[in-house]
Amino acid sequence: MSAQKGNRGEGETRQLDAVIIGAGFSGLYALYKLRDVMGMDVQVYETADGVGGAWYWNRYPGSRCDSESYYYCFSFSEELAQEWEWSGKYPEQPEIERYLNHVADRFDLRRDIQFSTRVASARFDDAANCWEVCTEQGERVRARYLISAVGCLSAANLPDIPGRDSFQGEAYHTAAWPREGVDVKGKRVGIIGTGSTGIQATPRIAAEAAHLTVFQRTPNFTVPARHTLFAPEDQAEIKKNYSAIFERTRRSPAGFPYFPIERKTLDVSAEERQQILEELWEEGGFKFLWGGFSDMMTDPAANALVSEFIRNKIRASVNDPETAELLCPTDHPYGSKRPPIDSDYYVSFNRDNVSLVDIRSAPIEAITPMGLRTQDAEYELDVLVFATGFDAMTGALLKIDIQGAGGRKLADAWAEGPRSYLGLQVAGFPNLFTITGPGSPSVLVNMPVSIEHHVDWISDCIERMRERGETRIEATEAAQDAWVEHVAEVSKMTLIGQADSWYVGANIPGKPRVVMPYTGGQPLYRERVEAVVNADYEGFEFRA
Ligand code: FAD
Ligand code: NAP
Repeated sequence: MSAQKGNRGEGETRQLDAVIIGAGFSGLYALYKLRDVMGMDVQVYETADGVGGAWYWNRYPGSRCDSESYYYCFSFSEELAQEWEWSGKYPEQPEIERYLNHVADRFDLRRDIQFSTRVASARFDDAANCWEVCTEQGERVRARYLISAVGCLSAANLPDIPGRDSFQGEAYHTAAWPREGVDVKGKRVGIIGTGSTGIQATPRIAAEAAHLTVFQRTPNFTVPARHTLFAPEDQAEIKKNYSAIFERTRRSPAGFPYFPIERKTLDVSAEERQQILEELWEEGGFKFLWGGFSDMMTDPAANALVSEFIRNKIRASVNDPETAELLCPTDHPYGSKRPPIDSDYYVSFNRDNVSLVDIRSAPIEAITPMGLRTQDAEYELDVLVFATGFDAMTGALLKIDIQGAGGRKLADAWAEGPRSYLGLQVAGFPNLFTITGPGSPSVLVNMPVSIEHHVDWISDCIERMRERGETRIEATEAAQDAWVEHVAEVSKMTLIGQADSWYVGANIPGKPRVVMPYTGGQPLYRERVEAVVNADYEGFEFRA
């Protein structure tokens, strides 16, 4: 398609068909699709020294997926699905990292991934219709297309707490956990954060540390995972049904191979409702939300009943009533924050070596050389864990200095919140595609399903451009405005905007409050995207 990768003289800038930023699920599949299926000349840059993305970085104790293994994986290769053996329902981080390494090896992807290389800037050359990409390490390349596979949850949020750097013990963010692990045996550990990460890490750290103090600002609803290992007959059953499983993940609202039950929460008697919720609770995992009552996320009265059901489970699990009440969320509806899935979280607070500190009523004042000081007490710690999450959905992209047509900066275009057309492109930034970008369902879907959908869409679009000899694609401002308005309208039909969550940017001080993912569900989104394609890519402008 264009000049060969090695074909460059001294001082000449390498010309590629595409640069992909990131080597997680998104970057790996995009590389496979563009290079192996479409024959393009592609370079991937990855900050880490290995593949895996989220599963490279998040090595904290207890790190494992919340989607079940056999559909939290790629579906594009039947052979890959048939040959890989998952150990059980919710594999831990090392197993998922091994899987993604296997994918990289199996499809010989590594030779086009440059590791330990961070993309620092990208500037669109209006005259040549291509991107000039610069790395922090000083490399400069040019590419027709720039594909962002930087991840929605990859820019760690380390809160700016006074005295943070004065701590003399060991301090770690969970998304930068050392590969060799952290020995907490016999140590006094403090953990800040009770999101999915804190909830996974707490029981594991509690089992080893001399004492664990959990600093909780907002309590969270979590549902038990109920992890089990797969027996050979489970493996065989899954493999036999893979095509039906994958097909269901593409049709269901949130990318799972099951659907919400048709009846509404208030359409059944109190006894029947209790029984249905008990069954879902016993089964565990995401099915409680995505295979439960269909109106849980839209009807406040329905949600209130489900929320109270979970609060009662907390009260039944935690021995000390005061601690139990502190763990009961009352400030947001269940599901309006990304719901964690746990293994023994609530019962951890029955251990003698675990204490819960409410930093809502007595906020953290400072991190000190010896530990942490809240408004009413001092805590001496040997290890401090920041399970404080991510600058989600926009953070990683905005860390790159991106300048589109006419030198317009992405940071300026998104100053009041991210704007996109279909979550795939940004007006004013031609030939830039964002895999699972804001404005797409991305993080509200079992993500590999969203990722494959986006990569397939992007590659089909590029294929069309190749066929027609086009070199530039750009979303129009009008199409983008209409999409942004649609995303905002649809979000008002759900309860998602009601929580101070990372979905709306509320976890990052100063970040504009916007519901960033598309909340209309996967089927509606896929329909809209397909309609755009069928209307000859309505809302996009192409140039030859
Ligand atoms: P990532 O995996 O985040 O990869 C992005 C990569 O881009 C990273 O390796 C990063 O280093 C690289 N990068 C970013 N900026 C640059 C730059 N400027 N230059 C070079 N490289 C760069 N989703 C689910 O659906 N189910 C789950 O069970 C689930 N579990 C999760 C558990 C954890 C602990 C976390 C953090 C997330 C989880 N997710 C889950 C969400 C997860 O983000 C996605 O499932 C998926 O891994 C995203 O893949 P990705 O390739 O899009 O992004
Ligand atoms: P998170 O959900 O954003 O939770 C961060 C926690 O840190 C919250 O309890 C937050 O409190 C607290 N916090 C943040 N800043 C603080 C500050 N300055 N002072 C005190 N407390 C502070 O982050 P996360 O737990 O890392 O999870 C992020 C997302 O990653 C998840 O929602 C999920 O999508 C993904 N993830 C998935 C899995 C899985 O599927 N297995 C596991 C881990 C993560 P507030 O609530 O008060 O803001």
